[in-house]
Amino acid sequence: MSEVSVLVVEDEPTIAETILYALEIEGYRVTHAETGGAALEIFADDQPAFVILDVGLPDITGFEVCRELRKSSDVPILFLTARDGEIDRVVGLEIGADDYVVKPFSPRELTARVNAILRRNKRGIDSGSSGAGDGEISVGRFTLYLDRYQGSLDGVELNLSRYEFGMLKVFLEHPGRVFSRDQLMGLVWDEPDAALDRTVDAHIKTLRKKLHAVDADFDPINTHRGLGYALLLPRS
Ligand code: CA
Repeated sequence: MSEVSVLVVEDEPTIAETILYALEIEGYRVTHAETGGAALEIFADDQPAFVILDVGLPDITGFEVCRELRKSSDVPILFLTARDGEIDRVVGLEIGADDYVVKPFSPRELTARVNAILRRNKRGIDSGSSGAGDGEISVGRFTLYLDRYQGSLDGVELNLSRYEFGMLKVFLEHPGRVFSRDQLMGLVWDEPDAALDRTVDAHIKTLRKKLHAVDADFDPINTHRGLGYALLLPRS
């Protein structure tokens, strides 16, 4: 495995040191920023494969850093939050974080989480080429045919509309991540401003119907009330 670089954004020196040490032991290459501003600069220069982001930073909040990164990048982001408050959790996931841990945490717990997210994303679209032909990606029971905007479940064609295809691709690229309706519209629709929230809901509904037509018990798309949707893949 080549060295994976992780950017750690944390202003408290003792916590930062602990995290950096734990990640180095695991074989990651680490960089460290103490402010949101520094984090954005390092990110632009270094393009790390993973970002660990403290919510409470001295200049701008971790949420703002996340929002800024998400404008141009799909990098996995793990939040460090001080409280297990519902607000941290909701906001964190809605703006496109992959997971979060609440302080205090053990270094072991943190590295386990980083490893899990990287594994999960690797199982997703990035590594999907194994055994499949060009333009074909297999993730779990799904196969996507990128050149013709189609997909299959257990080898059965799903006859997807372009929006259903687009959403399924986004979900399979980030299993478990919650996407808000706005995010899905921005990622999938050509003219997101012209679409309505209920447009997304309508296409989710038809997508679910097509999955159910293949397997009536298979319902991988979870609705997160007030937040959006996530696709969960069974652990393999
Ligand atoms: Ca802090």
